[in-house]
Amino acid sequence: MKYVSTRDVEKKSLYSSAEVIKMGLAPDGGLFIPTEIPQIDESFIRTLCQCPYYERAAKILSLYLTDYDYEKLLSDCKEAYSDASFDGGVAPVVKLLENVYFLELWHGPTAAFKDMALQIMPRLLSTALKMTGETRTALILVATSGDTGKAALEGYKDIDGIKIMVFYPNDGVSKVQKLQMATQTGENVNVCAIYGNFDDAQNGVKAIFSDTAMSELLDANGYFLSSANSINWGRLVPQIAYYISAYCDMLNSDQIEYGEKIDVSVPTGNFGNIFAAYLAKRMGLPIGRLICASNSNNVLTDFLATGTYDKNREFKLTSSPSMDILISSNLERLLAFTAGPEKTQKYMSELSKNGKYTVDPETKAKIDQDFIGYYATDLNSSFAIEDNFDGYGYLLDTHTGVATWCAMRYCSEHPQHEKILIVSTAHPLKFAKEVYLCLTGTRLESDLEAMKMLNTALWINIPTPASLADLDKREIRFKKSIEPKDMKQEVLSYLHIDQ
Ligand SMILES: *Cc1c(COP(=O)(O)O)cnc(C)c1O
Repeated sequence: MKYVSTRDVEKKSLYSSAEVIKMGLAPDGGLFIPTEIPQIDESFIRTLCQCPYYERAAKILSLYLTDYDYEKLLSDCKEAYSDASFDGGVAPVVKLLENVYFLELWHGPTAAFKDMALQIMPRLLSTALKMTGETRTALILVATSGDTGKAALEGYKDIDGIKIMVFYPNDGVSKVQKLQMATQTGENVNVCAIYGNFDDAQNGVKAIFSDTAMSELLDANGYFLSSANSINWGRLVPQIAYYISAYCDMLNSDQIEYGEKIDVSVPTGNFGNIFAAYLAKRMGLPIGRLICASNSNNVLTDFLATGTYDKNREFKLTSSPSMDILISSNLERLLAFTAGPEKTQKYMSELSKNGKYTVDPETKAKIDQDFIGYYATDLNSSFAIEDNFDGYGYLLDTHTGVATWCAMRYCSEHPQHEKILIVSTAHPLKFAKEVYLCLTGTRLESDLEAMKMLNTALWINIPTPASLADLDKREIRFKKSIEPKDMKQEVLSYLHIDQ
């Protein structure tokens, strides 16, 4: 299997999966996609039904990462998706009521779905370095608004041949997220706050990536830069696995018959998670409609309704911060599959010039076959949380609240819908302040306080995840805050490089 850039019209440059995982972004600024989509059939799915999660993941990864040794993938998946890392199952399907199911993707070490990819991706990169004969150390540079930074730190800590440095906005992350990062363990990690917002962190990281003098200096000292962002194929492909796994679990528990379609609702930000569901469908998994659930930053809802993507609008801070995003990078991959590379290139240049583009009617019709968009305001999400808790005793986090509200809208507008699988992306106690507010009407100071309150409230029967429970008792290792302009210097001093 070979990979190509979404913008490579003549498909001239082909890459192996190891190269793609190492590089992250294609040299022409596009994203890597496979040149073909591997197909799965009933016998493949029935075989997976008999396997534990890690083996399902390894078998699915091997369909895309054809240059990787299967036994190595299997042993890496076994380590990544171990019981020690995933408490209460890796990606369990929970039945709420007849026809409504949740796919819980937050049982990993950082209590959000990013772990599903970031537990395995560092191992895939480490193998890629060996396969490509790389002798330099990879430096993973991350700018985070909260969840990705911690999940990347947990995934990359103490992995051979790799170091990781995370920048986060001093006032832009929750107290839980800040403590999660400041108390990070591992010998190859560094964390630093910056005085600024997420965009300042992101711009600083981008500037380092495009600084040729910097790459030469790093190269001379035995380093090169790599990325853990969801534009990297290494983060997308592990996400396909849990959709197929969910279908197996539903078959195993006789919730569906083989061939029966399921509709899937995904809380969406960067369009990575839902794009993995789309690939699972294109591979042959019986999926009906893909419900793209957004919060008030509803640029994707408008795009799916009208065919025009327009990021020229007010950026809103919502109670589902991991979905506060106006440029959904992975949409470019969907455009490449539906409109082809030539138009993708044109749309992307219009996006960077004018902040908007409109797809042609054929492309729109193709996208409509698979996707439908809805959005939920904070109030809508809060209603879904309350409704689920009062009605069924099942607690949702704010992101999952968005997906649930959108799924409810879809069902009421489409009475002929299939069984619905709602993707649950964060532990209900991770964004505890908002959840506490929904349930009690009282606004507390911090997530940490709310988590404790929720945990001691007799009416909540959910233990705080071990990774969050003792956060305020752990040693703070990283206290530094710097100006955005000093980010480059911080990277160099972390690596002990003199300019
Ligand atoms: C990152 C994140 C999302 C959005 O996922 P995308 O792949 O960016 O669409 C949704 N919910 C939570 C909790 C997240 O951390």
